[in-house]
Amino acid sequence: MEAIKGIGVSAGIAIGRALLLVHSDRRASFRTVGSFEIENEIQRMARAIADSIEQLLHIRNKMALRGGKEAARIFDFHLELLGDPTLIGPIREDIAREGVVAEYAVSENFRKLADRFRGMGSDIFAQKAADVIDLERRVLSRLGGRPADRIATLKGPVIVIAHELTPSQTVELHRAHIAGFATDGGGLTGHTSILARALELPAVVGCARVSTDVEDGDMIIVDGEGGLVIVRPDDAVLARYQLLARETEHRRHALRSDATQPSVTRDGMAVALLGNIEFPEEISTVLANGGSGVGLYRTEFLYLMSDVPPTEDDHLDSYRRALELSDGRPLVIRTLDLGADKYTQGTLVEAERNPFLGLRSIRFCLANQEMFKTQLRALLRASAYGQIKIMLPLVTHVMELRQTRMLLNDLAEELEEAGIPFDRNIPVGIMVETPAAALMARTFAIESQFFSIGTNDLIQYTLAVDRGNERVASLYNAANPAVLGLIKSITRTARHVGIDVSVCGEIAGQPLFTPLLVGMGVRTLSMSPGQIPAVKRVVRGLEIERCESLARRVGSFDSDRQVLSCLRDELRKIDPEALAGSEGS
Ligand code: PEP
Ligand code: MG
Repeated sequence: MEAIKGIGVSAGIAIGRALLLVHSDRRASFRTVGSFEIENEIQRMARAIADSIEQLLHIRNKMALRGGKEAARIFDFHLELLGDPTLIGPIREDIAREGVVAEYAVSENFRKLADRFRGMGSDIFAQKAADVIDLERRVLSRLGGRPADRIATLKGPVIVIAHELTPSQTVELHRAHIAGFATDGGGLTGHTSILARALELPAVVGCARVSTDVEDGDMIIVDGEGGLVIVRPDDAVLARYQLLARETEHRRHALRSDATQPSVTRDGMAVALLGNIEFPEEISTVLANGGSGVGLYRTEFLYLMSDVPPTEDDHLDSYRRALELSDGRPLVIRTLDLGADKYTQGTLVEAERNPFLGLRSIRFCLANQEMFKTQLRALLRASAYGQIKIMLPLVTHVMELRQTRMLLNDLAEELEEAGIPFDRNIPVGIMVETPAAALMARTFAIESQFFSIGTNDLIQYTLAVDRGNERVASLYNAANPAVLGLIKSITRTARHVGIDVSVCGEIAGQPLFTPLLVGMGVRTLSMSPGQIPAVKRVVRGLEIERCESLARRVGSFDSDRQVLSCLRDELRKIDPEALAGSEGS
C-alpha cells in the first residue's frame, strides 16, 4: 500500500482499477519485444498510421465543406507525410532490425524528421517541425488506443492516472464514465480541475509521481476531499473508504435537498448564486442545485471539443439551447477564452514560450477577427431568443473593449440590413481578472455594463504564480492581502459607478470566502454547480453587518495566514460542517 499526497480539486471518493494514460508530450520509452512479436509490432504501427490517415481525411473533408480551404490545406501536408515511404520505411526497419516497440520507432523517426526541419532555420520549417510533432502525437495516441476504447474493455469502475490531462481529454473521459482521476501535474484552478468539479468527478492533481508509481490495473482510491491517492490499499483501508464514500454521497444528497430554499441572509439580503458552465446541459445541474441562472458560460469548450472550428450556426445552436434551458434566467456568455492551457487543435495556435502571458483570450480573438466575428454574430442572433449578456475575458486595455464594441456595431448593422432580429441593447461586460483591469476599474466601469471578477486569473497575475503548476501551488493563495485588496477596490468602484459586479472565480464557490465577499459588497456569486448548496447554506447563516465588520478586520491584516485563520473562525461559528469541507479541498 502507498499513499500519495496531492491537491484535492474535486470532492468525493472514487474507488477502482487504474488505467494509466501515456503522456502525449513525452518521448515513447525504449522497449524491445521478442522476435516472435516483431511482426505484430509492425502491423500495429501500420494500423495506427492507416487510422491516423483516415482520421485526417475525415477532418480535412469536414473543413473543406465548411469553406475553411486554408485550414484544410494544412492537413494535406500531414497526409502527405503519413504516406511518405521515406518516413514510414525507416520506422518499419527499426522495428524489424532492433526489435523495438512500435511506439519507440515512431517517436524516434518523427523526432529525427522534426529536428531536420528545425535545423533548416526558417519560420516555415519551424512550423513544419511543429506539424511533425503534432502528427507523432496523433499516431502515438492511435497506438495506445483511445482512452475511451480502453476503458470500455475494463470491468468495474476505472480511475484514470496520467502525467497530465487536457480539458478536452477530461470531458472525453467523463463521457466514457470513469469514476475519478489523479495526475502528476495541475493546480486547484487549472481548467482540468474546474472541469472535474463541473463533471462531479473526484480528482486529485499535483501528485508529482503518481503516473510512475501506479501500474495499469492497480486498485486505487482517490480521495478528492483529502487530496490523497491510495495505491493498492489493504483490506482495512479499503473498507474504511467504502464507508466514507457512502457517507459523502449521503451528505451531498442532504445538502441538495435544501436547494429550493431562497438564498438570503438572516437579515434579508438576497445574494444571487449562479453557476459556471462549460456546456448548456450543465444548466439543469445548476438549477437542481438551487442556482438561479448562469453567471459564466465558458464557450471555448465549443472549440476544444471538436477537431473543426464551430460555425456560426454551431454557436447559435448552443446559445439557443442554453437560453431554452435557462428559461428566462440570467445567462452570461463569455466570448472565447482560448490560449494558455486551453489550446485549440494546433491549427490555430503555435506553441508559445510563455502561453499564460501570450496570445490568449480577448487578444487571441482580436488577432483572429474572422473567428471572433463568427461568435459575435451568433451571440447577436441568439439575443433575439432570450436575454443574454456578453462578457469579455482577460481584458487589460480599454482598447480591447472598444474594438470589440466596434465589431459588434458593424455586425449589428449587417444584421439590421439583412433583416435578422437581435437585441440592440445587449449588455457587454468584462471579466476583471488582471491587475491592469483592476487598477483601471473606474474607466472600465464607465465603458461597460457589468464586471465579473475572475479570481482564478487575478490571483495568478497578481502573485505571479502559474495557476496550474503544482510546484508553486502553495504560493497560489486567494487569501493573499494583495488579491483581497484588489477584489475590494474593484467591488467598491463598480458599486460607486453603479454597475453590477459578481465574482466568478473558484473562491465564489468556497464557503470559507462567502462571509468576506458578502462583507465586501458582492451580491452575486457564480460557481461550479456542485458548490451552490454548500454556499447557500452559509449565505443563509450570515448577517450583513457582521460580514462588513469581518471585511474591515481582514482588510487590516498583512498576511494570508492571519486572513485564513480569521475566515476559519468565522465559518466555524456559522457552519462548522462547511468548514470541515473547505479544510479538505
Ligand atoms: C477566472 O479566471 O477566475 C475565471 C473564472 O475564468 P477561467 O477560470 O475560465 O480562466
Ligand atoms: Mg480567467
